[in-house]
Amino acid sequence: MTRKSVTILGSTGSIGVSTLDVIGQLGGRERFDVMALTGNGNIALLAEQAKLVGAKLAVTADDRRYQELKVTLAGSGIAVASGTSGLAEAAAMDADWVMAAIVGTAGLAPTLAAAERGADIALANKECLVSAGPLFVEAVRRGGGKLIPVDSEHSAIFQTLEEHQRHALERIILTASGGPFRTWSREDMANVTVETARAHPNWSMGLKISIGSASMFNKALEMIEAQHLFAATPEQIEVVVHPQSIVHSMVGYTDGSVLAQLGVPDMRTAIGYALTYPARSPLNVDRLDFAKIGRLDFEAPDEERFPALRLARLAMHRGGLQGCIMNAAEETAFEAFVEGRIRFLQMADIVEAAMDRLSSISPAASIEDVFAADVEARRTAAEFIAGL
Ligand code: NDP
Repeated sequence: MTRKSVTILGSTGSIGVSTLDVIGQLGGRERFDVMALTGNGNIALLAEQAKLVGAKLAVTADDRRYQELKVTLAGSGIAVASGTSGLAEAAAMDADWVMAAIVGTAGLAPTLAAAERGADIALANKECLVSAGPLFVEAVRRGGGKLIPVDSEHSAIFQTLEEHQRHALERIILTASGGPFRTWSREDMANVTVETARAHPNWSMGLKISIGSASMFNKALEMIEAQHLFAATPEQIEVVVHPQSIVHSMVGYTDGSVLAQLGVPDMRTAIGYALTYPARSPLNVDRLDFAKIGRLDFEAPDEERFPALRLARLAMHRGGLQGCIMNAAEETAFEAFVEGRIRFLQMADIVEAAMDRLSSISPAASIEDVFAADVEARRTAAEFIAGL
Protein backbone atom coordinates (compact mmCIF):
# COMPACT_ATOMS: atom_id res chain seq x y z
CA MET A 1 0.00 0.00 0.00
CA THR A 2 1.24 3.48 -0.81
CA ARG A 3 1.44 6.10 1.94
CA LYS A 4 -1.92 7.37 3.04
CA SER A 5 -2.86 10.52 4.91
CA VAL A 6 -5.68 10.10 7.40
CA THR A 7 -7.85 12.15 9.75
CA ILE A 8 -9.92 10.70 12.57
CA LEU A 9 -12.99 12.64 13.61
CA GLY A 10 -13.75 11.24 17.08
CA SER A 11 -10.37 9.64 17.77
CA THR A 12 -10.95 9.42 21.53
CA GLY A 13 -14.05 7.25 21.25
CA SER A 14 -14.42 3.51 20.98
CA ILE A 15 -14.18 3.51 17.16
CA GLY A 16 -11.44 6.16 17.17
CA VAL A 17 -9.25 4.14 19.54
CA SER A 18 -9.77 0.99 17.44
CA THR A 19 -8.91 2.96 14.30
CA LEU A 20 -5.58 4.06 15.79
CA ASP A 21 -4.92 0.47 16.84
CA VAL A 22 -5.50 -0.69 13.24
CA ILE A 23 -3.27 2.10 11.91
CA GLY A 24 -0.58 0.95 14.36
CA GLN A 25 -0.97 -2.68 13.28
CA LEU A 26 -0.68 -1.71 9.60
CA GLY A 27 2.58 0.19 9.99
CA GLY A 28 1.81 3.38 11.93
CA ARG A 29 4.00 6.33 10.99
CA GLU A 30 5.83 4.20 8.43
CA ARG A 31 2.72 4.08 6.25
CA PHE A 32 0.34 6.75 7.49
CA ASP A 33 0.46 10.51 7.88
CA VAL A 34 -2.05 11.49 10.54
CA MET A 35 -3.33 14.94 9.66
CA ALA A 36 -5.95 15.67 12.32
CA LEU A 37 -7.42 13.99 15.40
CA THR A 38 -10.54 15.27 17.15
CA GLY A 39 -12.14 14.59 20.50
CA ASN A 40 -14.45 16.35 22.89
CA GLY A 41 -13.96 15.91 26.65
CA ASN A 42 -11.08 13.45 26.87
CA ILE A 43 -8.21 15.90 26.51
CA ALA A 44 -5.55 13.67 28.08
CA LEU A 45 -6.20 10.84 25.63
CA LEU A 46 -6.45 13.21 22.65
CA ALA A 47 -3.08 14.76 23.47
CA GLU A 48 -1.47 11.37 24.07
CA GLN A 49 -2.80 10.05 20.72
CA ALA A 50 -1.70 13.16 18.84
CA LYS A 51 1.84 12.89 20.19
CA LEU A 52 2.04 9.15 19.56
CA VAL A 53 1.10 9.38 15.89
CA GLY A 54 2.61 12.82 15.23
CA ALA A 55 -0.70 14.42 14.21
CA LYS A 56 -0.48 17.84 12.60
CA LEU A 57 -3.64 19.14 14.30
CA ALA A 58 -5.54 18.19 17.48
CA VAL A 59 -9.05 19.52 18.01
CA THR A 60 -11.41 19.45 20.95
CA ALA A 61 -15.02 20.13 20.03
CA ASP A 62 -15.45 21.82 23.40
CA ASP A 63 -14.25 25.45 23.27
CA ARG A 64 -13.96 25.51 27.07
CA ARG A 65 -11.23 22.84 26.89
CA TYR A 66 -9.07 24.67 24.32
CA GLN A 67 -6.55 26.07 26.84
CA GLU A 68 -6.15 22.72 28.54
CA LEU A 69 -5.39 21.04 25.21
CA LYS A 70 -3.04 23.83 24.22
CA VAL A 71 -1.11 23.57 27.48
CA THR A 72 -0.96 19.76 27.28
CA LEU A 73 0.47 19.91 23.76
CA ALA A 74 2.78 22.89 24.32
CA GLY A 75 6.17 22.37 22.68
CA SER A 76 4.99 19.37 20.66
CA GLY A 77 4.64 21.30 17.39
CA ILE A 78 1.07 20.03 17.06
CA ALA A 79 -1.43 22.74 16.13
CA VAL A 80 -4.49 23.03 18.38
CA ALA A 81 -8.04 24.19 17.64
CA SER A 82 -11.49 23.90 19.18
CA GLY A 83 -15.25 24.11 18.65
CA THR A 84 -17.20 23.99 15.42
CA SER A 85 -14.54 25.94 13.56
CA GLY A 86 -11.87 23.56 14.86
CA LEU A 87 -13.84 20.55 13.59
CA ALA A 88 -14.22 22.30 10.23
CA GLU A 89 -10.45 22.89 10.17
CA ALA A 90 -9.84 19.19 10.86
CA ALA A 91 -12.26 18.18 8.08
CA ALA A 92 -10.55 20.57 5.65
CA MET A 93 -7.03 19.16 6.25
CA ASP A 94 -5.78 17.42 3.16
CA ALA A 95 -6.26 13.82 4.29
CA ASP A 96 -6.95 11.11 1.68
CA TRP A 97 -9.09 9.18 4.14
CA VAL A 98 -11.33 10.41 6.94
CA MET A 99 -12.78 8.23 9.67
CA ALA A 100 -16.15 9.71 10.69
CA ALA A 101 -16.49 8.50 14.28
CA ILE A 102 -17.96 11.45 16.16
CA VAL A 103 -21.07 10.30 17.97
CA GLY A 104 -24.42 11.85 17.06
CA THR A 105 -25.47 14.81 14.98
CA ALA A 106 -22.29 16.69 15.95
CA GLY A 107 -20.54 14.53 13.35
CA LEU A 108 -22.68 15.69 10.46
CA ALA A 109 -21.11 19.05 9.49
CA PRO A 110 -17.42 17.96 9.56
CA THR A 111 -18.13 14.68 7.76
CA LEU A 112 -20.12 16.47 5.10
CA ALA A 113 -17.27 18.96 4.64
CA ALA A 114 -14.72 16.15 4.27
CA ALA A 115 -16.98 14.44 1.71
CA GLU A 116 -17.42 17.68 -0.25
CA ARG A 117 -13.66 18.12 -0.57
CA GLY A 118 -13.32 14.62 -1.99
CA ALA A 119 -11.83 12.58 0.85
CA ASP A 120 -12.64 8.88 1.09
CA ILE A 121 -15.05 8.62 3.99
CA ALA A 122 -14.99 5.67 6.36
CA LEU A 123 -18.41 6.10 7.88
CA ALA A 124 -19.04 4.95 11.45
CA ASN A 125 -21.32 7.87 12.33
CA LYS A 126 -24.80 6.76 11.28
CA GLU A 127 -26.44 10.11 11.73
CA CYS A 128 -24.98 11.51 8.48
CA LEU A 129 -27.11 9.14 6.45
CA VAL A 130 -30.07 8.89 8.81
CA SER A 131 -30.52 12.66 9.08
CA ALA A 132 -29.25 13.87 5.74
CA GLY A 133 -29.17 10.74 3.54
CA PRO A 134 -29.77 12.16 0.02
CA LEU A 135 -27.73 15.34 0.70
CA PHE A 136 -24.84 13.37 2.14
CA VAL A 137 -24.78 10.82 -0.71
CA GLU A 138 -24.86 13.71 -3.19
CA ALA A 139 -21.98 15.47 -1.37
CA VAL A 140 -19.87 12.30 -1.65
CA ARG A 141 -20.73 12.02 -5.34
CA ARG A 142 -19.80 15.67 -5.98
CA GLY A 143 -16.55 15.33 -4.04
CA GLY A 144 -15.61 12.17 -5.91
CA GLY A 145 -14.30 10.21 -2.89
CA LYS A 146 -15.40 6.76 -1.81
CA LEU A 147 -17.98 6.11 0.88
CA ILE A 148 -16.99 3.01 2.83
CA PRO A 149 -19.23 1.86 5.67
CA VAL A 150 -17.67 0.96 9.01
CA ASP A 151 -20.73 -0.13 10.95
CA SER A 152 -20.18 -3.91 11.09
CA GLU A 153 -23.56 -4.66 9.48
CA HIS A 154 -23.05 -2.24 6.61
CA SER A 155 -19.47 -3.31 6.13
CA ALA A 156 -20.77 -6.89 5.85
CA ILE A 157 -23.28 -5.82 3.20
CA PHE A 158 -20.64 -3.75 1.41
CA GLN A 159 -18.36 -6.80 1.36
CA THR A 160 -21.04 -9.15 0.02
CA LEU A 161 -22.96 -6.88 -2.35
CA GLU A 162 -21.03 -7.24 -5.56
CA GLU A 163 -21.27 -4.16 -7.74
CA HIS A 164 -21.78 -6.12 -10.95
CA GLN A 165 -24.74 -7.95 -9.37
CA ARG A 166 -26.58 -5.00 -7.89
CA HIS A 167 -29.40 -5.50 -10.39
CA ALA A 168 -29.99 -8.90 -8.77
CA LEU A 169 -30.21 -7.57 -5.21
CA GLU A 170 -33.43 -8.77 -3.61
CA ARG A 171 -33.01 -8.08 0.09
CA ILE A 172 -30.65 -6.85 2.74
CA ILE A 173 -30.78 -8.79 5.98
CA LEU A 174 -29.39 -6.84 8.93
CA THR A 175 -28.51 -8.98 11.90
CA ALA A 176 -29.17 -7.72 15.43
CA SER A 177 -27.83 -9.23 18.63
CA GLY A 178 -31.07 -8.37 20.41
CA GLY A 179 -29.06 -6.64 23.14
CA PRO A 180 -29.24 -7.36 26.87
CA PHE A 181 -33.09 -7.42 26.91
CA ARG A 182 -33.61 -9.86 24.05
CA THR A 183 -35.50 -12.32 26.22
CA TRP A 184 -36.97 -9.87 28.75
CA SER A 185 -40.70 -9.14 29.01
CA ARG A 186 -41.95 -5.57 28.51
CA GLU A 187 -42.82 -5.43 32.22
CA ASP A 188 -39.24 -6.32 33.17
CA MET A 189 -37.87 -3.75 30.70
CA ALA A 190 -39.98 -0.97 32.19
CA ASN A 191 -37.66 -0.13 35.09
CA VAL A 192 -34.18 -1.06 33.87
CA THR A 193 -31.21 1.10 34.86
CA VAL A 194 -28.61 2.69 32.58
CA GLU A 195 -26.02 0.23 33.87
CA THR A 196 -28.09 -2.84 32.87
CA ALA A 197 -29.00 -1.27 29.53
CA ARG A 198 -25.40 -0.49 28.59
CA ALA A 199 -24.11 -4.02 29.24
CA HIS A 200 -24.02 -5.35 25.69
CA PRO A 201 -23.68 -9.14 25.52
CA ASN A 202 -21.11 -9.24 22.65
CA TRP A 203 -19.70 -5.83 21.68
CA SER A 204 -17.78 -3.28 23.70
CA MET A 205 -18.94 0.16 22.50
CA GLY A 206 -19.63 3.77 23.46
CA LEU A 207 -22.58 4.60 25.78
CA LYS A 208 -24.96 5.94 23.11
CA ILE A 209 -24.70 2.92 20.83
CA SER A 210 -24.83 0.48 23.76
CA ILE A 211 -28.13 1.93 25.01
CA GLY A 212 -29.28 2.05 21.37
CA SER A 213 -28.56 -1.67 21.07
CA ALA A 214 -30.65 -2.38 24.16
CA SER A 215 -33.64 -0.40 22.79
CA MET A 216 -32.89 -1.49 19.20
CA PHE A 217 -32.88 2.18 18.17
CA ASN A 218 -29.38 1.48 16.93
CA LYS A 219 -30.84 -1.11 14.53
CA ALA A 220 -33.53 1.39 13.56
CA LEU A 221 -30.82 3.90 12.59
CA GLU A 222 -28.99 1.14 10.72
CA MET A 223 -32.09 0.29 8.67
CA ILE A 224 -32.29 3.87 7.42
CA GLU A 225 -28.52 3.97 6.97
CA ALA A 226 -28.74 0.85 4.76
CA GLN A 227 -31.56 2.36 2.73
CA HIS A 228 -29.38 5.31 1.74
CA LEU A 229 -26.06 3.50 1.46
CA PHE A 230 -27.33 0.80 -0.85
CA ALA A 231 -30.19 2.67 -2.56
CA ALA A 232 -32.61 0.05 -1.22
CA THR A 233 -36.38 0.28 -0.78
CA PRO A 234 -37.84 -0.07 2.73
CA GLU A 235 -39.33 -3.43 1.67
CA GLN A 236 -35.86 -4.76 0.82
CA ILE A 237 -34.55 -4.20 4.35
CA GLU A 238 -35.10 -6.97 6.88
CA VAL A 239 -33.87 -7.46 10.43
CA VAL A 240 -33.17 -10.83 12.02
CA VAL A 241 -32.05 -11.33 15.60
CA HIS A 242 -28.83 -13.32 15.81
CA PRO A 243 -27.67 -13.43 19.44
CA GLN A 244 -24.09 -14.58 18.77
CA SER A 245 -23.19 -11.55 16.56
CA ILE A 246 -21.06 -13.77 14.31
CA VAL A 247 -22.94 -13.24 11.05
CA HIS A 248 -22.59 -9.48 10.65
CA SER A 249 -25.29 -9.18 7.95
CA MET A 250 -26.41 -10.78 4.70
CA VAL A 251 -27.44 -9.98 1.17
CA GLY A 252 -30.11 -12.01 -0.67
CA TYR A 253 -30.14 -12.22 -4.46
CA THR A 254 -32.99 -12.88 -6.91
CA ASP A 255 -31.76 -16.44 -7.55
CA GLY A 256 -32.32 -17.35 -3.89
CA SER A 257 -28.63 -17.16 -2.91
CA VAL A 258 -27.73 -15.44 0.34
CA LEU A 259 -24.18 -14.18 0.94
CA ALA A 260 -23.04 -13.45 4.47
CA GLN A 261 -19.95 -11.98 6.08
CA LEU A 262 -18.85 -13.55 9.36
CA GLY A 263 -16.25 -12.68 11.95
CA VAL A 264 -15.66 -12.23 15.65
CA PRO A 265 -17.41 -9.16 17.13
CA ASP A 266 -14.43 -6.82 16.75
CA MET A 267 -14.80 -3.50 14.94
CA ARG A 268 -11.16 -3.56 13.85
CA THR A 269 -11.97 -5.91 10.94
CA ALA A 270 -14.49 -3.46 9.45
CA ILE A 271 -12.18 -0.51 10.19
CA GLY A 272 -9.21 -2.27 8.55
CA TYR A 273 -11.29 -3.09 5.50
CA ALA A 274 -12.40 0.54 5.21
CA LEU A 275 -8.80 1.71 5.58
CA THR A 276 -7.26 -0.50 2.92
CA TYR A 277 -10.28 -1.12 0.62
CA PRO A 278 -10.35 -2.68 -1.93
CA ALA A 279 -7.35 -4.59 -0.51
CA ARG A 280 -7.43 -6.64 2.67
CA SER A 281 -4.60 -6.38 5.17
CA PRO A 282 -3.53 -8.84 7.85
CA LEU A 283 -4.95 -7.95 11.27
CA ASN A 284 -4.30 -9.30 14.70
CA VAL A 285 -7.91 -10.01 15.72
CA ASP A 286 -9.33 -13.28 17.07
CA ARG A 287 -10.30 -15.89 14.50
CA LEU A 288 -13.62 -17.71 14.40
CA ASP A 289 -13.50 -21.23 15.76
CA PHE A 290 -16.64 -22.82 14.32
CA ALA A 291 -16.37 -26.05 16.27
CA LYS A 292 -16.23 -24.02 19.48
CA ILE A 293 -19.15 -21.80 18.42
CA GLY A 294 -21.19 -24.93 17.63
CA ARG A 295 -24.37 -23.20 16.50
CA LEU A 296 -25.70 -19.98 15.10
CA ASP A 297 -29.23 -18.94 16.12
CA PHE A 298 -31.69 -16.68 14.36
CA GLU A 299 -35.08 -15.40 15.47
CA ALA A 300 -37.64 -12.82 14.37
CA PRO A 301 -37.44 -9.46 16.17
CA ASP A 302 -40.34 -8.55 18.43
CA GLU A 303 -41.61 -5.14 17.35
CA GLU A 304 -43.98 -4.96 20.34
CA ARG A 305 -41.10 -4.97 22.81
CA PHE A 306 -38.78 -3.08 20.44
CA PRO A 307 -40.96 -0.43 18.73
CA ALA A 308 -37.84 1.27 17.33
CA LEU A 309 -37.91 -1.11 14.36
CA ARG A 310 -41.49 -0.16 13.53
CA LEU A 311 -40.56 3.52 13.83
CA ALA A 312 -37.67 3.05 11.37
CA ARG A 313 -40.09 1.57 8.83
CA LEU A 314 -42.45 4.46 9.43
CA ALA A 315 -39.60 6.94 8.88
CA MET A 316 -38.51 5.17 5.67
CA HIS A 317 -42.05 5.13 4.29
CA ARG A 318 -42.80 8.72 5.22
CA GLY A 319 -39.39 9.80 3.85
CA GLY A 320 -38.33 13.46 3.88
CA LEU A 321 -36.90 14.51 7.22
CA GLN A 322 -38.50 11.77 9.31
CA GLY A 323 -35.15 10.00 9.74
CA CYS A 324 -33.61 13.22 11.00
CA ILE A 325 -36.54 13.76 13.36
CA MET A 326 -36.41 10.18 14.62
CA ASN A 327 -32.68 10.50 15.28
CA ALA A 328 -32.83 13.89 17.01
CA ALA A 329 -35.80 12.89 19.17
CA GLU A 330 -34.01 9.68 20.07
CA GLU A 331 -30.84 11.55 21.10
CA THR A 332 -32.96 13.80 23.31
CA ALA A 333 -34.82 10.83 24.82
CA PHE A 334 -31.52 8.97 25.30
CA GLU A 335 -30.06 11.91 27.26
CA ALA A 336 -33.20 12.07 29.41
CA PHE A 337 -32.95 8.33 30.11
CA VAL A 338 -29.26 8.55 31.01
CA GLU A 339 -30.02 11.46 33.35
CA GLY A 340 -32.82 9.48 35.00
CA ARG A 341 -35.61 11.78 33.80
CA ILE A 342 -37.53 9.14 31.83
CA ARG A 343 -37.80 5.36 31.89
CA PHE A 344 -36.33 3.05 29.28
CA LEU A 345 -39.54 2.27 27.37
CA GLN A 346 -40.58 5.91 27.31
CA MET A 347 -37.77 6.66 24.86
CA ALA A 348 -39.77 5.08 22.00
CA ASP A 349 -42.99 6.84 23.07
CA ILE A 350 -41.22 10.21 22.93
CA VAL A 351 -39.69 9.49 19.52
CA GLU A 352 -43.00 8.36 18.03
CA ALA A 353 -44.83 11.41 19.39
CA ALA A 354 -42.20 13.76 17.92
CA MET A 355 -42.27 11.97 14.55
CA ASP A 356 -46.07 12.25 14.41
CA ARG A 357 -46.13 15.90 15.48
CA LEU A 358 -43.54 16.84 12.83
CA SER A 359 -44.70 14.58 10.00
CA SER A 360 -45.64 17.47 7.71
CA ILE A 361 -42.16 19.09 7.57
CA SER A 362 -41.07 19.28 3.90
CA PRO A 363 -38.05 17.31 2.65
CA ALA A 364 -34.66 19.02 3.02
CA ALA A 365 -33.46 21.18 0.16
CA SER A 366 -30.24 22.06 2.00
CA ILE A 367 -28.24 21.07 5.05
CA GLU A 368 -29.69 24.09 6.87
CA ASP A 369 -33.14 22.45 6.57
CA VAL A 370 -31.69 19.34 8.22
CA PHE A 371 -30.26 21.36 11.11
CA ALA A 372 -33.56 23.24 11.51
CA ALA A 373 -35.55 19.98 11.63
CA ASP A 374 -33.03 18.55 14.07
CA VAL A 375 -33.49 21.53 16.42
CA GLU A 376 -37.28 21.38 16.10
CA ALA A 377 -37.33 17.62 16.82
CA ARG A 378 -35.18 18.11 19.94
CA ARG A 379 -37.44 20.92 21.14
CA THR A 380 -40.55 18.82 20.51
CA ALA A 381 -39.10 15.76 22.24
CA ALA A 382 -38.05 17.92 25.21
CA GLU A 383 -41.60 19.28 25.42
CA PHE A 384 -43.03 15.75 25.51
CA ILE A 385 -40.49 14.73 28.15
CA ALA A 386 -41.38 17.73 30.30
CA GLY A 387 -45.06 16.83 29.99
CA LEU A 388 -44.66 13.26 31.25
P1 NDP B 1 -17.92 7.11 21.70
O1 NDP B 1 -18.94 7.74 22.57
O2 NDP B 1 -17.06 6.05 22.26
O3 NDP B 1 -16.98 8.24 21.03
C1 NDP B 1 -17.52 9.37 20.44
C2 NDP B 1 -16.46 10.31 19.94
O4 NDP B 1 -17.08 11.56 19.59
C3 NDP B 1 -15.39 10.66 20.97
O5 NDP B 1 -14.20 10.97 20.30
C4 NDP B 1 -15.97 11.90 21.63
O6 NDP B 1 -15.00 12.68 22.28
C5 NDP B 1 -16.54 12.62 20.43
N1 NDP B 1 -17.63 13.52 20.76
C6 NDP B 1 -18.57 13.40 21.72
N2 NDP B 1 -19.40 14.47 21.70
C7 NDP B 1 -18.95 15.29 20.72
C8 NDP B 1 -19.38 16.56 20.23
N3 NDP B 1 -20.45 17.20 20.74
N4 NDP B 1 -18.70 17.10 19.21
C9 NDP B 1 -17.63 16.47 18.65
N5 NDP B 1 -17.16 15.28 19.11
C10 NDP B 1 -17.84 14.69 20.12
O7 NDP B 1 -18.72 6.57 20.42
P2 NDP B 1 -18.38 5.32 19.51
O8 NDP B 1 -16.94 5.32 19.13
O9 NDP B 1 -18.98 4.10 20.10
O10 NDP B 1 -19.26 5.64 18.23
C11 NDP B 1 -18.92 6.66 17.31
C12 NDP B 1 -19.89 6.58 16.12
O11 NDP B 1 -19.70 5.32 15.49
C13 NDP B 1 -21.37 6.63 16.54
O12 NDP B 1 -22.11 7.32 15.57
C14 NDP B 1 -21.78 5.16 16.59
O13 NDP B 1 -23.16 4.97 16.30
C15 NDP B 1 -20.92 4.60 15.46
N6 NDP B 1 -20.60 3.19 15.60
C16 NDP B 1 -19.96 2.71 16.71
C17 NDP B 1 -19.67 1.36 16.84
C18 NDP B 1 -18.93 0.82 18.04
O14 NDP B 1 -18.64 -0.38 18.07
N7 NDP B 1 -18.56 1.63 19.01
C19 NDP B 1 -20.08 0.41 15.82
C20 NDP B 1 -20.69 1.02 14.67
C21 NDP B 1 -20.94 2.35 14.58
P3 NDP B 1 -14.59 12.47 23.86
O15 NDP B 1 -14.59 10.98 24.08
O16 NDP B 1 -13.22 13.09 23.90
O17 NDP B 1 -15.59 13.18 24.68
